[in-house]
Amino acid sequence: MTAANRADRYAVMGNPIEHSKSPLIHRLFAEQTGQDLVYEAILVHPGGFAEAVADFTGAAGKGLNVTVPFKQQAWQIADELSKRAQRAGAVNTLTMGAGDKLSGDNTDGVGLLRDLTRNLGIALSGKKLLLLGAGGAARGILAPLLEQNPSRLLIANRTAERARKLAAEFSDLGELHGCGFVDLKGSHFDVIINATAAGLQGHVPELPDGIINSRSYCYDLMYASEPTAFVRYARQCGVQAAFDGLGMLVEQAAESFRIWRGIAPDTAAVITALRAQ
Ligand code: NAP
Repeated sequence: MTAANRADRYAVMGNPIEHSKSPLIHRLFAEQTGQDLVYEAILVHPGGFAEAVADFTGAAGKGLNVTVPFKQQAWQIADELSKRAQRAGAVNTLTMGAGDKLSGDNTDGVGLLRDLTRNLGIALSGKKLLLLGAGGAARGILAPLLEQNPSRLLIANRTAERARKLAAEFSDLGELHGCGFVDLKGSHFDVIINATAAGLQGHVPELPDGIINSRSYCYDLMYASEPTAFVRYARQCGVQAAFDGLGMLVEQAAESFRIWRGIAPDTAAVITALRAQ
């Protein structure tokens, strides 16, 4: 029997998946904490997610991360959901329990918050927040953002109706409104979080002039080896404090690792290692 056969098996499933940093992140966590595990990236074809999870479970897999476009399907197939996954309507962490029971969790929100508040030192309480985007990522981070008691939280989206619907869905958790980008004209915010997928095409959301000023904090959920389009745009607006989502990626992975292995890894060392690549 090889070491890989003996070690507990984990993986990330998505499509595309070849550029995923999750295998490297979990390998670094495992080395750092002395955990014996293997973690691979599995490309899953559209329509093949439930079968791929069943195969992985049948092969004694212990846990899965789930990324685009399967987070909502993972939510549907989970036998039980954490409170935060239930609220988000999406699952990025599956754990195989006794009798192959699948537990679903969502660690994206806690990952963003830990990066914003703990790593970057950005306090959100009493601040005016703007969340750009109303897709899956926005859903996952809304509740944790509202728990920080911002003075205002506005969701703005290219499709305004989607932002309004999302705001209505979470309005029991705090003062929250949705609108389109043009409706932002004349508004100012302390913290602007970009949860749109515009950056994947090298674009930025079409915001009215003056929304971002030099004192704003800007955070892009997207990450890349070069500054992302939104980070570059924020810097053009004079922002000093503009960050990409690499820290969130590592923090959400650390929370998955803690769920699976019961140990919280040192994320700072792993963020530094990834930045140095
Ligand atoms: P999604 O569910 O497909 O949602 C996409 C969102 O982006 C929608 O609100 C969409 O607006 C908007 N959008 C797309 N193209 C746009 C454009 N050209 N201009 C303005 N808005 C545009 O995607 P998602 O899962 O929420 O992911 C969003 C981003 O978050 C991705 O870049 C993803 O990589 C990143 N992410 C990062 C982490 C991390 O750990 N760092 C975790 C999760 C996600 P409409 O409603 O008008 O279509």
